[in-house]
Amino acid sequence: MTSRRQWLRQLSLTLSAFAQPKSALFVPSSKEKPEAQGDNHKATLALSNYEPRSALHAQETHIEAASFPVIDVHTHITVSAKSKNGVGLGAERTYLGQPDELLPLMDRKNIRAMVNLTGGYDDGLAQVIAKFDKAFPGRFYSFTEPCYERFLEPKYPQIQADGIEYAHRTGAKGLKILKTLGLYLRENITSGKLVKIDDPRFDPMWDACGQLNMPVAIHVSDPIAFFTPIDRFNERYEELNNHPDWSFYDHDFPSNAELLQARNRMFARHPRTQFIVLHVGNFAENLDNVSESLDRFSNMTVDIAARIGELGRQPRRSRRFFDRHQDRILFGTDATPHGDEFPQQVFNDKLYEIYYRFLETEDEYFDYAPAKVPPQGRWRIYGLGLPHSILEKVYNQNAARVLGIEI
Ligand SMILES: [Zn+2]
Repeated sequence: MTSRRQWLRQLSLTLSAFAQPKSALFVPSSKEKPEAQGDNHKATLALSNYEPRSALHAQETHIEAASFPVIDVHTHITVSAKSKNGVGLGAERTYLGQPDELLPLMDRKNIRAMVNLTGGYDDGLAQVIAKFDKAFPGRFYSFTEPCYERFLEPKYPQIQADGIEYAHRTGAKGLKILKTLGLYLRENITSGKLVKIDDPRFDPMWDACGQLNMPVAIHVSDPIAFFTPIDRFNERYEELNNHPDWSFYDHDFPSNAELLQARNRMFARHPRTQFIVLHVGNFAENLDNVSESLDRFSNMTVDIAARIGELGRQPRRSRRFFDRHQDRILFGTDATPHGDEFPQQVFNDKLYEIYYRFLETEDEYFDYAPAKVPPQGRWRIYGLGLPHSILEKVYNQNAARVLGIEI
């Protein structure tokens, strides 16, 4: 007859073979190894504990500062203080960084200017511009954003166009569209049917930007993996598992193709408006598609923010992309001061060193983000080794032209 103690021990071994704690690490030297491993006699390691170290003897080039002064066209120094269901509400801003904190790092990394895309509107925008753009001329540029909370007012299209004019008078350099448009903004602002990117109510806004020479930095859609199930086939499984709210799979969300089609219809209707399509045209997994769009729309440029992970895992295709579109690619990072939760865009020295290494060297198989585990997918990247003529365009000349500023 089995004693209670033996029975409990047997039960715990049986259970441990089936239900392992999420972060369990089974050490092979454990005395209980054969039972704990179950029938297949293979050790089990939780994916979250897996941190392989490369044995490859590869060149490691340290690029302390960029070869040419940099304009980072995609940063978030301020953000909306309030939001609901993905829609920013109100003019009030939260300041994620202060000039005296940002400027020393900018000088160390040869960053001439940072473009703060999420500058907001009305008083909030005016305060941001006073504190950054006007206090440090040539070092900071702010973009405005639409005021979605007035979306239900009958005269919204004109109100929004007037808002662009106000922002221009106040000193804003361009307009930023977050993925709010297409994926969060709804008919009743935070509820109801999703509003499409080519909704005619925004036509006066796009036209105002064209007339005032204010480029529109637009984020449409997201990585393809965000539109597929969060399962073992998803190449960004860990990223989505950490941020399940980033998934646009199912519910009433449009597909990536539908979002891009709506974007393209809108671009075609506003040929005089310049669009900086962020994150490599939001389709870095398909550079043929981005290349076709660039050929089709002469009013389109792209930035590379938060997508060197995608570009760097296809270095030969990316290099051809940079050769062909060298006048239409802008340097951007998505840098966010204290954004430690998102290592691929945290504003720090390391982040910029990785971008410079990717663009300037032919180093192989290195991390695309300053993190223990690659945060956007388990792969590493390869440098492009761009020539100086292309580097200078990407680092500053293209952005200076699009923003209408001197470098
Ligand atoms: Zn961004």
